[in-house]
Order: sequence, then structure tokens, then C-alpha cells
Amino acid sequence: VCDHVKGYGLTPHVMHGPGRCVVGVLGHEGRLSEAGFTNFEGVIEVVRVYSPYVLSSRETHPADTVVSLGDGVKFGASEVVVIAGPCSVESLEQAIAVARTVKAAGATVLRGGLFKPRTSPFSFQGLGEAGYDLMDEVRRETGLKFVTEALDERSLELAEARADIDRIGARNMQNFALLKKVGRCKKPVLLKRGFSATLDELLMAADYILAGGNYNVVLCERGIRTFTDHSRNTLDLSAVPMLKQLSHLPVIVDPSHATGKRKLVQPMALAAVAAGADGVMLEVHCSPAEALSDGEQALLPQDFESLVPRMAAVAQAVGRTLHTASPLNSGL
Ligand code: PEP
Ligand code: MN
Repeated sequence: VCDHVKGYGLTPHVMHGPGRCVVGVLGHEGRLSEAGFTNFEGVIEVVRVYSPYVLSSRETHPADTVVSLGDGVKFGASEVVVIAGPCSVESLEQAIAVARTVKAAGATVLRGGLFKPRTSPFSFQGLGEAGYDLMDEVRRETGLKFVTEALDERSLELAEARADIDRIGARNMQNFALLKKVGRCKKPVLLKRGFSATLDELLMAADYILAGGNYNVVLCERGIRTFTDHSRNTLDLSAVPMLKQLSHLPVIVDPSHATGKRKLVQPMALAAVAAGADGVMLEVHCSPAEALSDGEQALLPQDFESLVPRMAAVAQAVGRTLHTASPLNSGL
């Protein structure tokens, strides 16, 4: 089928799902109808995709995509993944203390920014490349998977080589040059919704990555700009079931950046699990008052410890389970 597609000067995108394989075909309409796939041997059905995003659409790929980080950590399967850690990595002591805490409480993926997209050029910009040496040690000790943001080509190369999942932040959701590069990466990608992006725009941004051949994309709702004056952003929770309806890609929620206030993070994390999120990403800091970024929204270790079993209970209530590190599993 792929050879046939290529013979018409079109590009095939192969996506393997359970029981069937989808070949997404992109190209000019005239050429597509000319290519005539309907009676092609081995083709079960031909589906015409009308949405502006093609590869991330559920019309193209009806089965849920499961994005695996290895060691049983999977987004989009029945288990809900907990990502936790500081906004920024500040020092080895800080990172290791948070990592130990979140691991003991049940998180399986550690977050921590090394290259920070800050609104002001005078704010802490992150430890940069040197931070990876610290994180290598933290990961060795804790065994946690590690997600960190790539801001540009260089930080993407580093994340690709030294993290488990590359993150594209809200501010770069429509950095198309960067998205094209991410498409050529092999590591899974966490793509955050821009704070004024529609769902169509988010899914077209995901298409940039999928079109490059990287199908391991996890979407993240992180709050959008509204006229609210009580929180940093407004968590668009209905985006979760809507995205899951429109797309086969896993969807997670970041209640920390969505609310910007510690007291709002726990209820919104529970609500995210109830809404069907495949994961929740939370900022945690052992001494938020001294944090170099986003201290106001960081959960304290004890907040996080008490939140995890409550997220597990909500997950159970909606027919899911929380994927946690072994201590919690054995304790439940
Ligand atoms: C982050 O998760 O560290 C971050 C900067 O978030 P966002 O890109 O959603 O603002
Ligand atoms: Mn932050």
C-alpha cells in the first residue's frame, strides 16, 4: 500500500494499532481519488478525513494511541500516570529531595525544567545543560522517568539524548520550525496547549510532530487565558473529553500552571482524573517560599502525599486505576 501511495507522489504515514494498521495518506485531493484505494488488496476500508488535523484525528486512527516510556509507564492505557516535581531544577539537593518525596508518594515520572521559558529575561532561566548531570544522578537513584522542556534546537537535542520524554511548552506550541524538528525525534513528546490556542490548533500542532514520523505524542491541557481574575489561567477541563473524542492521542492535565495557586491545584487534579485525563502533571517543592520559579503554585510534599490516594480513589470511581510506584500499590 505504501509503495502504491508513494507511486502517486503522496506521503504514507503508517500507524500500527491493535488488530489493524492505518496508512494515513496526505496529498492533493485529485491525486488521492486517482490513486483509488477502495479495491486495493489488504485495505479494509478507506476513510476520508474532513478535520483540519489529519494524523491526530480519531477518524484516521479509531483506537487509542498508547505512549510508552518503558518500565510499564504508559499514557493512554487504563492507568492514569502521575508526573510530579519542581517547576525548575535548582540544585542537586533540591531535585533529589523532591524526587524522593514524589516517588515515595507514588509518582512514576519526574518533571523539572532545565531550560525555562520565562516571561521576564531577568527571571531565573534554568540551570541549562549543567542540570542534566544533576538529573542523571537523581534518575539513577530514584528510577523515575524524566520529562523536561525543550525550548529550541539545542535543548531539544539534549532532551532527546538525556530525558525520557521531551516537552514542548505552551509558548512554543506553534513554533512550527521546532515542531518539525520534534517530529524527527524518537523520544515521546508532551505537547502543551498554548494558552490562547483552540483545540483545532493544538491538534494541528500535534500533526506537525506526527507528520515528521514521531507518533508518540501526549497532549496536555494547562489552562487558557480568560477574563478570570482569581487564577493564573482557566483550566479548560471539557477539553479533556473533547480531545479524547476528536483524537486518538493521550491527554493529560497540568493543574499547577492552569490555576497558579496552591489551594486550587488539588481539587483541579481530582477533577482532571474524573474528566478522564490519562495523566496529571503537578509541581511539587519542599520549600516553595524559596523556589526560583512558580513557588505559589507548588504543592508541599504533604499536600502531594495526601493527594495521590485521593486521585487513586477518583480513578477507581471512573473505571481507571492510578499508575503508581510500588509503595502505594502495595499499600492500597
Ligand atoms: C512548565 O510546565 O514548566 C511550563 C513552563 O508550562 P507551560 O509551558 O504550560 O507554561
Ligand atoms: Mn512552572
